[in-house]
Amino acid sequence: MSQKIKKIAVLTSGGDSPGMNAAIRSVVRTCAYHTIECVGVYRGYEGLMEGDFKQLDARSVRGIINKGGTILKSARSKGFRTKEGRKQAHKRLMDAGVGGLVVIGGDGSFTGALIFNQEFGFPVMGIPGTIDNDIFGTSHTLGFDTALNTVVDAIDKIRDTASSHNRLFFIEVMGRDVGHIALNVGIAGGAEEILIPEEDLGLDRLVESLNKSRKSGKSSSIVVVAEGDKIGKNIFELKDYVDENMEDYDVRVSVLGHMQRGGAPSCFDRVLASRMGVKAVESMLNGQTNYMVGLLDNKMELTPLDNAIKGKTKINLELLRVSDIMST
Ligand code: ATP
Repeated sequence: MSQKIKKIAVLTSGGDSPGMNAAIRSVVRTCAYHTIECVGVYRGYEGLMEGDFKQLDARSVRGIINKGGTILKSARSKGFRTKEGRKQAHKRLMDAGVGGLVVIGGDGSFTGALIFNQEFGFPVMGIPGTIDNDIFGTSHTLGFDTALNTVVDAIDKIRDTASSHNRLFFIEVMGRDVGHIALNVGIAGGAEEILIPEEDLGLDRLVESLNKSRKSGKSSSIVVVAEGDKIGKNIFELKDYVDENMEDYDVRVSVLGHMQRGGAPSCFDRVLASRMGVKAVESMLNGQTNYMVGLLDNKMELTPLDNAIKGKTKINLELLRVSDIMST
């Protein structure tokens, strides 16, 4: 293994997700294993421009594998979007003797990393951290699995109250423009309908389907709605429409919000984060740069950052069919 890089920096950027701490721990410990130094950068690109660095060794990251959020804090930085800001960040890294940067974040953070590399030839490596699972080049982003479990737990609880009062609940889940969270939790939580941006069910068909469920003997219903779904302008308008067009149902809305991003990472996310950190550091030490590490066919693979940014994830059509059959 070539060891030209003597020091690696790691930062978390954009929205936080469970598993980011486990990934930081893995990057730090992989550096220690290969006897190179590691520095943590606080507050993403903002801290990079300010030189807000802290030397991290294997013991600095004890007790964090099970913690949600990110010990390095995350931020969105306007300054890094400017050439001047990136120049300042580059100077900070050079002054600190850093030879490579691991960025844990979403596609915006990767775009910043790629531009930074193109301008200064500085080696960068991405680790996909977002609950939305909307990044091309990995079957799972860090935090997706934990968020699924958090949401399913919430749906189970809402179902208890829905069935006690013959209620119809619209539950909005995160996912921005993609329906990966909604589709999975809808199946796992036994939802009657799942509304995702990739599929336009239409309001009339929704009412038709709910009426059918009612006739088949269901007295309460759960409809999972992805936040990016376009069927209603928003989930409250959706409620109003169904209220007006269906009798006998007491319709309620629950927007789960930011609780979906928090909590202790699942076993899956901890293992994934550990694997991604090792792959990111060792790939950089092997001279590879401008890649994102990802999980494909249960193997750690590298995808060029450019492809990871531009590529689109696809909804799993088999899951769509399963959900249709399950709502019979
Ligand atoms: P999330 O999935 O949670 O939104 P993200 O990484 O996509 O995470 P963004 O807010 O899009 O989050 O980006 C994070 C940061 O990356 C921005 O605040 C900015 O500093 C940097 N960044 C994003 N796009 C660019 C760009 N075109 N040029 C330079 N920096 C960028």
